[in-house]
Amino acid sequence: MARLVLKFGGTSVADIARIRNVARHVKREVDAGHQVAVVVSAMSGKTNELVAWCREASPMHDAREYDAVVASGEQVTAGLLAITLQNMGVNARSWQGWQIPLRTDGAHGAARIAEIDGSELVRRFGEGQVAVIAGFQGIAPDNRISTLGRGGSDTSAVAVAAALKADRCDIYTDVDGVYTTDPRIEPKARRMSRISFEEMLEMASLGAKVLQVRSVELAMVHKVRTFVRSSFEDPDAPGMGDLLNPPGTLICDEEEIVEQQLVTGIAYARDEAQISLRRVADRPGIAAAIFAPLAEAGVNVDMIVQNISESGSSTDMTFTVPVADLAKANAVIEKAKADMRYDAVQSEQGLAKVSVIGIGMRSHTGVAATAFTALASRGINIRAITTSEIKISILIDGEYTELAVRALHAAYGLDRAGAV
Ligand code: ADP
Ligand code: ASP
Ligand code: MG
Repeated sequence: MARLVLKFGGTSVADIARIRNVARHVKREVDAGHQVAVVVSAMSGKTNELVAWCREASPMHDAREYDAVVASGEQVTAGLLAITLQNMGVNARSWQGWQIPLRTDGAHGAARIAEIDGSELVRRFGEGQVAVIAGFQGIAPDNRISTLGRGGSDTSAVAVAAALKADRCDIYTDVDGVYTTDPRIEPKARRMSRISFEEMLEMASLGAKVLQVRSVELAMVHKVRTFVRSSFEDPDAPGMGDLLNPPGTLICDEEEIVEQQLVTGIAYARDEAQISLRRVADRPGIAAAIFAPLAEAGVNVDMIVQNISESGSSTDMTFTVPVADLAKANAVIEKAKADMRYDAVQSEQGLAKVSVIGIGMRSHTGVAATAFTALASRGINIRAITTSEIKISILIDGEYTELAVRALHAAYGLDRAGAV
């Protein structure tokens, strides 16, 4: 007997027929004698609809009420799956965040999990009950519903798995694992049987939305054995119930990966915006004067490029923010003009960041040059570059995103042999 946490994303629970299919996956594990907790997302498109309604009601809405609205999507799915399981003869019960309780901090809309009391769930396991948990939500110190940020059900699942000391956490989604890049953009992408926590963390934070970043962090810290796998396969096909080697991609320690690749994957993030402050005073403290107020306002600044000053007295400072933060950033810059001391501001939207990720970069040279050559040969202009030990990120015009991802994927030999 093992203890398993199974998470099903939005497309996997998009309608009642799919919820029935999900219930068959759950029943397979229950019939094998395992203790099972399930974490569900809202039905596909539901959260977007709820978010849009909040914006329509008021663009500057209260974050607590936003959480009250958007958390409802998961509540519906949890109830529907519990009903479906009961109908199949499985003893199941739905749980909202506050009922567990799953406690978070007070950052409504982007809360972090503080503590999960798994004792009641474990007691119910003893009675042979399956817990169907609404993902994405918890309860904040003010006793109100909180949500964990978009894609947060992945994090709910890994955190529940850690709290329950589960043997495995399966993230069921609409792809059958983690690929070398988004298979929707590059059909030649290859599925990986394993990927290290570090690389998955970079992939996720650089745009691969297959897992929420925080879920990978938690899996790494708590050593949760996490698999990404497909909910669309026949739940009773051979091997689906394999305890040690289920089909899919295992996120694991670097040491567990036998064949290290130089480059593991390519990620992309659209909707980047660029802001340039022209002729800022080139003096000590200027970067702090610019970026401290932005940080205080919660603007997520990513790439920063400061030009060499020609005159010795002024320089240009260029940086990127997600397009969703652009209006806020411009407001902060306008307000702090006296401290920031710039001549003019320019901003541009519709940019994208493409990134090359691989632990092998630590010990190899020339990795970046390959990327630059690949983009140059397609006529793609590079606007900014940032690097770390295991990644290179390049800012380009958004219209070239697909072309750039495919060019980089091919340049590092990641294309599936014989794929069309
Ligand atoms: P869910 O609703 O199940 O949470 P998501 O839409 O959040 O699913 O994540 C799954 C999607 O992530 C896939 O459909 C795929 O398009 C995208 N994706 C992006 N990069 C990758 C990658 N490297 N490997 C697999 N999927 C990826
Ligand atoms: N339903 C939430 C979202 O769409 C959480 C999730 O699906 O992980 O962001
Ligand atoms: Mg998701």
